[in-house]
Amino acid sequence: MKPIEEIKPLLEAPKKMVITMHQKPDADAMGSSLALYHYLIQKGHQVTVISPTNFPDFLKWMPGAEGVIDFESSTDKAMEALKDIELLFCLDFNALYRTKNMAPHLEAVKCTKILIDHHLEPQPDFEYGVSDTSASSTAQLVYETIYKLGDEKFINLDIAQCIYAGTVTDTGSFRFASTTARVHRMVADLMDRGLRHEIIHQEIYDNFLENRLRFLGHSLLNRMEVFYEYNTAMLAIPYSDLKRFDLQTGDTEGLVNFLLSIQGIKMAALIIDRNSEVKLSFRSKGNFDVNTFARRYFEGGGHFNASGGRSTDSLEKTVNRFIKAVEENETLLQ
Ligand code: 5GP
Ligand code: MN
Repeated sequence: MKPIEEIKPLLEAPKKMVITMHQKPDADAMGSSLALYHYLIQKGHQVTVISPTNFPDFLKWMPGAEGVIDFESSTDKAMEALKDIELLFCLDFNALYRTKNMAPHLEAVKCTKILIDHHLEPQPDFEYGVSDTSASSTAQLVYETIYKLGDEKFINLDIAQCIYAGTVTDTGSFRFASTTARVHRMVADLMDRGLRHEIIHQEIYDNFLENRLRFLGHSLLNRMEVFYEYNTAMLAIPYSDLKRFDLQTGDTEGLVNFLLSIQGIKMAALIIDRNSEVKLSFRSKGNFDVNTFARRYFEGGGHFNASGGRSTDSLEKTVNRFIKAVEENETLLQ
């Protein structure tokens, strides 16, 4: 993969291009994609942002979110946008299967593919890009890419807000080890450009409906199990809970982090029966590698301390498989 700054000549003349992200995008996937969008349109390009699926309501405030095409519900429109593109930007994922039903179309499209991402073990599908696992977020990498291209004058308030949103969420509000001095310097620069961080926090964190809080209480009280001998905590959510609390995309985000606040817990798992499949989220503290764990047992991956996977077994069977996997990792979890 050639370094991202080498795309500079490709951006000189106006081109038709698409930016896409992983399915069920989070604030970093959407924020980095929209930040890049606001940069590229200022350069005169014809840019469409496509999400493989819908995205959570709490991201609808993002400048440009109203123009994002949902591949699942507007497939024809998305296919039209993909037709004859010269550049495809893939943000916040590094394996095409993470775009779900869009994956075969992305594989087939004949154009230059560019990666901007911070997950481990990228697939070799990309001609140009940056894959930096030390970056706090893909949003940070978009910011640094704009600088590398010598175009920092284009960083306006829209871009600043999108970059901040991706960074604040992926760093757990500047808590995780990935929050380097570089990250804080970037945020200072964004504030110099007019960013008001408190507004973004309110949009993202103070925007839930009552049912989501009730669901949180119910889950922590009735669905949590703690395995102290393995320093592990688990939440297993049946499909009936999703229906009962009328949960929408994004409503379970952040739930897994609560488990890590229990004293001594090194690994947390959120296991949700989404009806079509069981989705798993893993988080760890310190030296337990949940990327390897997700890859080995649940066809997944991600980062060292945050990863995800899936299972086609029933919830009960998946939970049993998870407990067995934890037992196998007993020594690593001490
Ligand atoms: P989350 O638990 O928030 O869905 O995901 C945690 C991290 O793991 C994110 O960085 C996400 O991109 C990654 N991740 C989640 N699910 C999968 C998966 O099925 N495969 C891979 N490779 N990564 C995943
Ligand atoms: Mn990310």
